[in-house]
Amino acid sequence: MGEFELIRSFFQRPVRRSPLGVGDDCALLAPAPGMQLAVSTDMLVEGRHFLADVNPQLLGHKALAVNLSDLAASGAKPLAFTLALSMPRADANWCQAFAEGLFALADQHECELIGGDTTQGPLNICITVFGEVPAGQALLRRGAQPGDDIWVSGSLGDARLALDALLRQHALPPAVLSQARQRLEQPTPRVELGMALRGIASSCLDISDGLLGDLGHILEASGVGARIDANITRNLLQARRHPMMAALAISRIDACTLAGGDDYELCFTAPSSAQAAVRDAAAQAGVPVTCIGRIEAERGVRVMAPGGQQLPLRFSSFDHFA
Ligand code: ADP
Ligand code: MG
Repeated sequence: MGEFELIRSFFQRPVRRSPLGVGDDCALLAPAPGMQLAVSTDMLVEGRHFLADVNPQLLGHKALAVNLSDLAASGAKPLAFTLALSMPRADANWCQAFAEGLFALADQHECELIGGDTTQGPLNICITVFGEVPAGQALLRRGAQPGDDIWVSGSLGDARLALDALLRQHALPPAVLSQARQRLEQPTPRVELGMALRGIASSCLDISDGLLGDLGHILEASGVGARIDANITRNLLQARRHPMMAALAISRIDACTLAGGDDYELCFTAPSSAQAAVRDAAAQAGVPVTCIGRIEAERGVRVMAPGGQQLPLRFSSFDHFA
């Protein structure tokens, strides 16, 4: 199978929204009047972001999900995406499964594939997403104020728990592994929540590298610090609710929830006067949200243990070049 047959077979579909899509030299995009384009790129590299034997359908899902998660963090509505794909050989079965996972999520968010590039090489997937947001209303990393509540959506740490189990660093009961593995391989981008938080959240980002590291970006951009309640974050690990996980070490729970990575939940701040509005937005989006702490004027992050003492922070979040 050649390059163009491969594109036609798996990645070219009738164009719905944009005037021109796959098949021309450029795709054309027209943001509606009064809207800004929100644009983000994420690359997934074999061995770095996924294991070589990963199911291609799940990989198709995840490659788009991590990009949609960036749109969610900005409060943008997905419009379209491009796909740059490098792969060792033209494997029709692999492409078919990859495209299935990719388009199932794309269709869920009415996000259209409008172009890309296909080359032979090591397996590498690069997606650029385009979304729209009313001008001036995008959620940013800066804007958190002392006194604001710090919130996270959904659950934290299960993806890391699964990854460590798959890398054989510890064993998990099969039922726990399969649930946690779903969080690792099929993250849910919180697109509806991001849009519902426009005008409510004072800052927002998505957690890809671990809560503390990513929250650190908000703190730095906003020139503030934070206090986090470990008693609350520990309960955000879904696996912990399983009866067979009662003996899970607190140090592992903290490592996974505070610095795990691959969560793709939103972390955002809002004034405490907006608590009801935050809960309404979460209900509207159908995602649970939890207040995990508070923004303070004093720089740095203080994680408080149940007894009231401060936890020593031994975690660092993921850095490709560290
Ligand atoms: P060019 O050489 O002009 O860059 P290509 O031959 O690379 O064009 O691609 C032909 C068409 O197929 C273009 O419209 C491009 O956007 C699209 N395309 C290529 N690869 C992909 C892909 N993986 N997914 C979607 N569209 C693709
Ligand atoms: Mg090309």
